[in-house]
Amino acid sequence: MPDKNLICKDCQKEFVFTEGEQEFYKEKGLVNEPQRCPDCRKERKQQRDRNRFQRRY
Ligand SMILES: [Zn+2]
Repeated sequence: MPDKNLICKDCQKEFVFTEGEQEFYKEKGLVNEPQRCPDCRKERKQQRDRNRFQRRY
């Protein structure tokens, strides 16, 4: 399985969906390719964490 170049939905930047990540996705049973680059994914995760934190208090 070769590395794949994908375009991030958020920042429109190209990022690499590596062979290792593809394996990881397959193992988890995820059929969809990632929509976002690692940077945007991290950003969104942090936002989710923040929202959770705010709701709790
Ligand atoms: Zn991005």
